[in-house]
Amino acid sequence: MDMAVEAGVIKQHLIDPEICIRCNTCEATCPVNAITHDDNNYVVRADICNGCMACISPCPTGSIDNWRTMPVVRAYSIEEQFTWESLPAELSPEELEAAGVAAGSGDETEAAAAPVPTQAQATAEAAEPVFNSAQYGATVPPWSAAHAYTNLFPPKSPTTATVVGNFNCTEAGFDSETHHIVLDFGVVPFPVLEGQSIGIVPPGVDAIGKRHHARQYSVASPRNGERPGYNNVSLTVKRVTEDHQGDPVRGVCSNYVCDLKVGDTVQVVGPFGASFLMPNHPKSHIVMICTGTGSAPMRAMTEWRRRLRKSGKFEGGKLMLFFGARTQQELPYFGPLQSLPKDFIDINLAFSRTPGQPKRYVQDLMRERAADLAALLKDGASHFYVCGLKSMEEGVVLALRDVAKEAGLDWDTVGAALKREGRLHLETY
Ligand SMILES: Cc1cc2nc3c(=O)[nH]c(=O)nc-3n(C[C@H](O)[C@H](O)[C@H](O)COP(=O)(O)OP(=O)(O)OC[C@H]3O[C@@H](n4cnc5c(N)ncnc54)[C@H](O)[C@@H]3O)c2cc1C
Ligand code: SF4
Ligand code: SF4
Repeated sequence: MDMAVEAGVIKQHLIDPEICIRCNTCEATCPVNAITHDDNNYVVRADICNGCMACISPCPTGSIDNWRTMPVVRAYSIEEQFTWESLPAELSPEELEAAGVAAGSGDETEAAAAPVPTQAQATAEAAEPVFNSAQYGATVPPWSAAHAYTNLFPPKSPTTATVVGNFNCTEAGFDSETHHIVLDFGVVPFPVLEGQSIGIVPPGVDAIGKRHHARQYSVASPRNGERPGYNNVSLTVKRVTEDHQGDPVRGVCSNYVCDLKVGDTVQVVGPFGASFLMPNHPKSHIVMICTGTGSAPMRAMTEWRRRLRKSGKFEGGKLMLFFGARTQQELPYFGPLQSLPKDFIDINLAFSRTPGQPKRYVQDLMRERAADLAALLKDGASHFYVCGLKSMEEGVVLALRDVAKEAGLDWDTVGAALKREGRLHLETY
């Protein structure tokens, strides 16, 4: 057993709620599911975190790199962390000593560089291996990705954008509504790449009088703007009218954004994300697997490839899209998708609630297209992107694993290469 744990001390891993932008990257990255969140904060479970550091570099704000020397018995519970508005200070040497912790155990610099493992590490090796889709997600971009700028406008200093477009991009007249919003930054430099997200700060305060935190939205336009040559980006925002349990609720930011009028101004933070980026080398293939608003980054990548193809100066590889929604009416951009040439993109649509039809999910379509996916899995120029509902992630990665296995590929080797080479990206929320 680890000496530090035996001595009753841990370096507790904590997230700074004042800087965290609630982007979900850490939760998606953590290989042991030590990170969770509620509507207020992202938090780390002390009894599960093993100090592996996998979440540190992907975090776009640095808010995750906080460590506190704590007596194990006084480790902050997740319930406590959910209520925090700021990080608690280090315990003083006197407080530590009173708790039976020897002086000198709390060197923060040392902690950040190499945290003392928590009690979870002692049992980690003995644990049964379980399938954890997040462990295959890359934290590095593809080798040919362009350089992404992040955090140009951090949560404490947002910039202002003007709404120049807002329309429902799902079929009108249905309860479920998703809007295509175009924001213009005027003369303020706001460089974004396909696959990055930005934060919108809704006006007003929450139930306890605290300023609302920013909500993240994936950029749906390519790097040269929704309208080429203009300093603008587009977003795909679903109006939240019920919570994850199906109970009625009015989502603070999504409703604010969907109700914006042309000419309104909004507070924006970001950009964020430096790994869910597209490859830029010729003949690189892109496989996009998404549900609902997870289509936003896929739209951005597809549109960039379409513009490149139109220019005649770039020879892209295959584009393959697996897109799921409950019904065709709920699928954002259904119309524009239909007009893309078949030799440009291979589109596969799955609807799970079409009356009179069997339920079909993106994983079902992936299995149907196993032969094509297997060929792509064998090709080191293939890049896979998964975005949308959290619940889709495991099924999709399992489908990829099964496709690989059925094709006689060793999944451990393939999965490890996809992660290492920045070729499998997971962004679910
Ligand atoms: C990296 C990242 C990228 C994202 N990209 C997009 C995007 O491109 N488009 C987009 O629309 N959203 C996107 N989201 C989700 C978005 O950030 C917000 O969470 C969402 O708009 C809800 O915010 P809200 O303020 O309206 O709801 P809140 O007021 O925060 O929540 C209200 C209630 O609804 C629940 N809830 C929150 N979101 C949903 C949901 N989607 N479905 C059902 N219940 C929900 C909450 O748990 C809460 O109970 C992304 C999230 C992340 C982390
Ligand atoms: S350090 Fe490792 S185990 Fe701990 S929260 Fe980060 S990714 Fe998870
Ligand atoms: S990765 Fe995102 S959610 Fe996690 S700590 Fe960093 S900013 Fe917060």
